[in-house]
Amino acid sequence: MDRRDFSKRTLALGIGAIAGSASGSPKEAKDPSMNYYEEPAKQLPVRKCDVVIAGGGTAGVVAALAAARQGARTVLLEAKGYPGGTVVEGGTALHSFYNLWKAFPGVKKRQVVRGIPHEIVERLAKVGGTTGYAEMLRGYDYDSVCTAIDTELYKLVAFEMLAEAGVGVCVNTLLTGAIKEGDRIKGVIAESHSGREAIYAKSFVDCTAYGDLCARAGAKFTEPNDYPVVNSMGVANVNIEKYYEFLESHDAVGQYCEGLRGGKEGQIVRLSGRAAKLPPEFSQEAGKIGMDTTTTTVHDNYFMFIKLNLKMPVSPTNRDEVAKAELELRKRQARAVELFRKFVPGCEKAFIARTSPSLCIRRARLIQCDYDISHADVVDGKHFDDDVFVYGFHDSAPQLQIKDGGTYGIPYRALRVAAIANLLAAGMMITSDHRAHMSTRNTVCCMGQGQAAGTAAALCAAKNCDTRDLSYADLRKALEKDGVHFEN
Ligand SMILES: Cc1cc2nc3c(=O)[nH]c(=O)nc-3n(C[C@H](O)[C@H](O)[C@H](O)COP(=O)(O)OP(=O)(O)OC[C@H]3O[C@@H](n4cnc5c(N)ncnc54)[C@H](O)[C@@H]3O)c2cc1C
Repeated sequence: MDRRDFSKRTLALGIGAIAGSASGSPKEAKDPSMNYYEEPAKQLPVRKCDVVIAGGGTAGVVAALAAARQGARTVLLEAKGYPGGTVVEGGTALHSFYNLWKAFPGVKKRQVVRGIPHEIVERLAKVGGTTGYAEMLRGYDYDSVCTAIDTELYKLVAFEMLAEAGVGVCVNTLLTGAIKEGDRIKGVIAESHSGREAIYAKSFVDCTAYGDLCARAGAKFTEPNDYPVVNSMGVANVNIEKYYEFLESHDAVGQYCEGLRGGKEGQIVRLSGRAAKLPPEFSQEAGKIGMDTTTTTVHDNYFMFIKLNLKMPVSPTNRDEVAKAELELRKRQARAVELFRKFVPGCEKAFIARTSPSLCIRRARLIQCDYDISHADVVDGKHFDDDVFVYGFHDSAPQLQIKDGGTYGIPYRALRVAAIANLLAAGMMITSDHRAHMSTRNTVCCMGQGQAAGTAAALCAAKNCDTRDLSYADLRKALEKDGVHFEN
């Protein structure tokens, strides 16, 4: 069946009526002070496809594109009303398509992440939605380039690319359960305003960031709660040149990059300040509200992201604590704008133009996979015999960098969810080592994982095999054909 016909049909029809039982849900401890309601069994409409991608964020968009382009009938489930995830809500720039060549004299500049992630940047460039790969002029021992994006155009471009590839995109649709048969997932339960349904598939990829599908399918996970939660806001009516002068007047410029902004080359597109050098009234208040001085932009008079951090007492999978954090972060955003108005010339009339619809997290559940990438693997630049792409950025740079400004490999086994035969994971949920995760969780790495996982899921579906039975030679051939770069 033509992929486009399939996506139209799957969205229009709820075929059959075989109810499966959702199993493997995270066990809820019974609280003796609570009353319990026994949910009655119910028949759900079933639809069928080859590959389900849970979560249409940073990794999920790329996974769905990769799976559909392999010819798999692909359904993407996304809780929000648009694709994009944390790449359009959390960070400041896409780290990183390049190796850290600028920090290592003599090392060759090379674009190490290509394929579908690069294609997305190219599409964004066509509509004025990115700075492109602008070279850092100061602070390049952290990243050699700054790739800032227009977050609204990213959502649109991702949506269009998914439609063109024939992906059955289900937005405003929450994955709520997994239907298990032995060590395999038979299907998932999804809920939207249309109701509840079961979606059967041959292969599954969890790209929910929180590992919702893995947890509901009974995979093992941990929740270290070792990062603050964040709501990043877009601030308008500001002047980045004046912000630069303010930082420079205190000898506080950390990172500086010029690139395409407002359609003009050679404009400031990234700035960060060194808190210790700034006036104490500014830096102390910024410290209290967890404000990061880094910003990037592709538009005049607009800071694309100003981050407010808050450390929660428990994991962000706790609903009630999240509600408190959401309120506190919004209070902090208001205080941050006040700070800009009061201290930074050119920002006297700044206002909040955009906030994330919900707080963001750098990691929540960490899923046990067949291999857990270690800190040594990352900084030593290790490559594996089942690499699915290479990566060269570390968020702890310059303190921690990948050896010689090179790359390490992400092995296929690191994406295979332990003890489940047809489930892969991609994105911030892999890698338990905090320092290794400081590398693997970054946007461009998540996108690369997405391309690998989506391709593998589609090949498994086509060959009717489990993830552990997929031939690496076949996977590598497909990835190379689709533009993925390897260094072994
Ligand atoms: C504050 C912050 C700043 C950051 N700064 C940077 C930066 O500057 N540069 C950089 O490269 N990286 C940065 N990162 C890291 C990076 O942005 C993330 O690690 C990465 O985007 C995560 O991608 P992901 O695909 O794992 O998850 P996401 O992009 O979050 O995608 C998960 C998607 O799944 C959906 N979803 C979740 N649960 C369900 C469900 N049950 N059913 C259906 N859909 C569901 C979500 O709505 C979301 O769209 C930052 C992260 C944070 C939090």
